[in-house]
Amino acid sequence: MTNTSFDTKIVHHKADQRLVPNSKSTPIYQTSAFTFKDLDHLESYYEGHSPYLYTRERNPNTDELAGTVAELEEAPAGVASSSGMSAILAGILAVAKPGDHIVAAEDVYGGSHKLITKELSTFGIDVTMVSFSNLEKVSEVITDQTKLLYTESISNPFLRVEDLEGLVALARKKNVKTMVDNTFATPYLLQPYTHGVDLVVHSGTKYIGGHSDVTCGVLVGNEELVKAATQKIVTFGANLSPFEAWLTQRGAKTLGLRMKKQSYNAEQVAKALGEHDAVRTVYYPEKVSERGNGAIVTIELNDSIDVEAFFRSLGWVKIAPTLAGVETTVSYPVRTSHRALSNTEREKIGINDYVIRLSIGIEDYEDIVKQLEKALADSKN
Ligand SMILES: *Cc1c(COP(=O)(O)O)cnc(C)c1O
Repeated sequence: MTNTSFDTKIVHHKADQRLVPNSKSTPIYQTSAFTFKDLDHLESYYEGHSPYLYTRERNPNTDELAGTVAELEEAPAGVASSSGMSAILAGILAVAKPGDHIVAAEDVYGGSHKLITKELSTFGIDVTMVSFSNLEKVSEVITDQTKLLYTESISNPFLRVEDLEGLVALARKKNVKTMVDNTFATPYLLQPYTHGVDLVVHSGTKYIGGHSDVTCGVLVGNEELVKAATQKIVTFGANLSPFEAWLTQRGAKTLGLRMKKQSYNAEQVAKALGEHDAVRTVYYPEKVSERGNGAIVTIELNDSIDVEAFFRSLGWVKIAPTLAGVETTVSYPVRTSHRALSNTEREKIGINDYVIRLSIGIEDYEDIVKQLEKALADSKN
């Protein structure tokens, strides 16, 4: 571009390296749109021969992430979105239309609870929330309008493990679809789609990304439902940015390594705290999968502990209103995820001032146990 002016050169510079085909890592396609060499090329997009036009609709980085998670879940299709929440909304709207009804588990993640109870009505969707621990109760609230059963493979904070076979059997009998939030289990431990669940959703913000540096969602299922959900994500502008997709994809490379170590560590922490006289109850699931039981441990302390002092005595274990990073963190459901509930509502699901959720990281488990035991010793009443 020798014969052009500064203002032209600055956008058509010679150093352009947009195509380096043997780059070992996927480049970040940090572009809002794609260009076309002629009108035939543009036409080829609309005929379905060329995948990319505009990033809100589709981008190689989000495609790569969605494809990876779909493959890990053994589902034929996937779509990435701006957050776990937008993926959940898109999944529900792919199935339920105005006038339809869905049944959701009453112990779902706080944000999902709010979405389902406060927002779905604006789309004309009716909702019933019940405990999914007894599927007969779920069966009783299914009506002719019911289109979807919504739950989580492992619940928060008490880590109830969903009976996926029972759920799918009930849904098929009643001719309704199922959608499962698999965030806590990850496809390393459970693959709900292989059990017949129709839509599987993840907050990629958690274990799939794994490094607490990105907010993202992924939804997987069959081509038809994922296409319908993609339409919602594109139209609502709830797409994931290329850089965030790239970060999540990069984090996902170590999902197996992290889950293996974090589940092992969690098992050791659950064991040690189970023997501690300041701990009333340890909630840690059993037999989630042959690979482990997940990396979240919830405990209820007894009243020999000053809980405020416990949180002050945790040293390098930080208080964080999230989970699934490589560092061990603690969260306090009463003050964070379940803050909006009344005391009575909290009591109903078993959350009181002594319930603490631990997200176990990749450190050496002896150090995690030592740090927690020290905090318990330092916070005795
Ligand atoms: C965090 C979380 C969500 C919401 O995901 P965001 O990425 O924060 O939107 C949904 N479900 C579960 C189980 C979660 O832990």
